[in-house]
Amino acid sequence: MNRFKSLLCSTLIVLFFPCSATSVYALEKVSLQLKWTHAFQFAGYYAAKQQGYYERAGLDVDIREADPTINVSDEVSRGRADFGVGTSSLILEREAGKPVVVIAVVFQHSPQIFVAKNSTAFQSIHDLKDKRIMLEPHSEELLAYLKAEGVPLDSIHWKNHSFDVQDLMAGKADVMSAYSISEPYFLDQAHYSYQTFTPRSAGIDFYGDNLFTSEKEMAEHPKRVQEFRDASMRGWEYALSHKEQIAHLILEKYSHKDSRNTLGFLRFEADKITDLMRNDLVAVGYMNPGRWQHIADTYADLGMLPQNYSLDHFLYDYNPAVNYTLVNSIIAIALSLVCVVGIVTLYIFRVNRRLGKTVADLKAGELKLKLLSMAIEHSPTSVIITGTDTRIQYVNPQFTKETGYSAEEAFGQLPKILQSGLTPADTYHDMWTHLSRGKSWKGELINRRKSGDVYWEEAHISPVVDENNKLMHYIAVKLDITERKHANERLAHLAHHDGLTNLPNRILFFERVEQGLALARRNHTRLALMFIDLDKFKPVNDQYGHAVGDAILQKAAKRMLDCVREADTVGRIGGDEFIALMLDIGDHKNAELLAKKICHALSLPFDVAGQNHQLSASIGVAVYPEHGEDEVQLAKSADLAMYYAKASGRNNVKIYYDSMTNLYHT
Ligand code: GH3
Ligand code: MG
Repeated sequence: MNRFKSLLCSTLIVLFFPCSATSVYALEKVSLQLKWTHAFQFAGYYAAKQQGYYERAGLDVDIREADPTINVSDEVSRGRADFGVGTSSLILEREAGKPVVVIAVVFQHSPQIFVAKNSTAFQSIHDLKDKRIMLEPHSEELLAYLKAEGVPLDSIHWKNHSFDVQDLMAGKADVMSAYSISEPYFLDQAHYSYQTFTPRSAGIDFYGDNLFTSEKEMAEHPKRVQEFRDASMRGWEYALSHKEQIAHLILEKYSHKDSRNTLGFLRFEADKITDLMRNDLVAVGYMNPGRWQHIADTYADLGMLPQNYSLDHFLYDYNPAVNYTLVNSIIAIALSLVCVVGIVTLYIFRVNRRLGKTVADLKAGELKLKLLSMAIEHSPTSVIITGTDTRIQYVNPQFTKETGYSAEEAFGQLPKILQSGLTPADTYHDMWTHLSRGKSWKGELINRRKSGDVYWEEAHISPVVDENNKLMHYIAVKLDITERKHANERLAHLAHHDGLTNLPNRILFFERVEQGLALARRNHTRLALMFIDLDKFKPVNDQYGHAVGDAILQKAAKRMLDCVREADTVGRIGGDEFIALMLDIGDHKNAELLAKKICHALSLPFDVAGQNHQLSASIGVAVYPEHGEDEVQLAKSADLAMYYAKASGRNNVKIYYDSMTNLYHT
């Protein structure tokens, strides 16, 4: 009975922990060439080794650190290492003839930056011109950044990188290429005031560390590649959720006397790396062919790659295949057990069914997550995700495009950085009333880009809660509607202005008359309305053409505007008919004086294309309240006075008087 029990136990172990069975076989030796010295930058690989993920995949992994003389892509493409860690410039290595294949993207964003002393000599990236820069090899992304910003590369005094920030502090170089996950830590420690320039501010958002192998390895050991990749990514997931443990592991097992690793540094790196990996949004290792193509296109635009560079065979087609060997052996053992213990088989069947469903659910969930994150990364609307403290945790590339703030600059900031002070306070009040009640809010905000430009956006903001209704995040999806606003403004302007002279048209003019009348009634003041019609304009038009007539109308409009005060309005209501509104005129006499001033201005010659045209105008004036209590009556009176002026020989001003009606009708 005891023998039977132990057999059952060992069978169940094989069934439920199939990988542990491989440890009884000899492990395959493979090597991973890192691109730098041991640090949290490679935490996932140490974790995979320590947690036994590699061992369960049948692999004994030799993790090798690098020194500045090592070219990782050479090591891998020449078969001296099986796997390597490289930057997005692997694409250039491939174009240069090295058969490298990327199998996973670990850092969704690149940590490469420039650091310089915090001084007025470096107010923008353009100040890097003519400076002494230490650039490490494989920093094409930084060259692309300089090129994209129009900094001439041949103006720069390039220096070999010493990989020692002391040299920057000692002034041996003006600028250094650096990693946002490491050098800032040492500069902070030295209390050195520095500034950074990141390619993401110019829209160059490359992948950071990538795991890669050679075409040969892919062809000869496809299963091994897949298993190494999966175990490594599992290691990364572990490292991210056990940062402290892995930091200690690195300190104890992977740090030597010359190493710069300290607990403080490893913790700093771990936090920075979390921001670059975005494993809260995409599965660790996820890579997007579209984004790789974009990287290739950026290189191509900068002349570093041919146009439309094909990514065929460069990207690993990751489709986790079912491990049929494993499944077959499980079924075989299960079948033999059916004969011995039917009940165990039934139990196993049930468990497997449940497990299968869970795996299928997980895969469907992962796929959904990938699709959603792709949609967000490519969305033409900007997306911001904040924590409950409203500090920014994620922004998509469109956000950077729209606001000018790189993701790095935005992280940890409040969305307030975008405020222009022009959005009405009520809008924010309304927003927070909704959000604090757990409701979504939609509205329009007037914000300011990093460049200082003001823009309009339509914002949809929603609180995100967990299954217990606990607030977790806020998500804002925003659409830049500046163009739409401007187009609407242009339409509104067109609807209220005359296209030729840009003066208010009849609709807008009489709106102003209404407002002026309301004010005059309230303040017991007078206002004047004038009808102005050019005399004998038709013959000029007929003789010299419509274009000359148009030019005269435009010049006439300007002359009238020059005669009135800013608060007054001049409008055009027909062919050569203008209308003017004068507020708070005091005495009738003032209205008459102003009308005469206009009449005189219009009687001066108009110079069009070198030729003088002599015209004049007839003006009728009506004053509130004496000549009309409302706009209809006033307009009638002014019109009548104008006809009266015409009838009296033109080129003169008539103020309305009561008996005019009779005169006109007789
Ligand atoms: P009166 O002294 O009686 O006002 O004679 P007039 O020749 O000015 O005649 P009237 O005011 O009746 O006619 C206005 C003319 O203005 C008619 C047309 O030829 C011309 N006109 C109307 N609209 C436009 C325009 O948009 N551009 C140009 N160039 N001419 C216009
Ligand atoms: Mg006329």
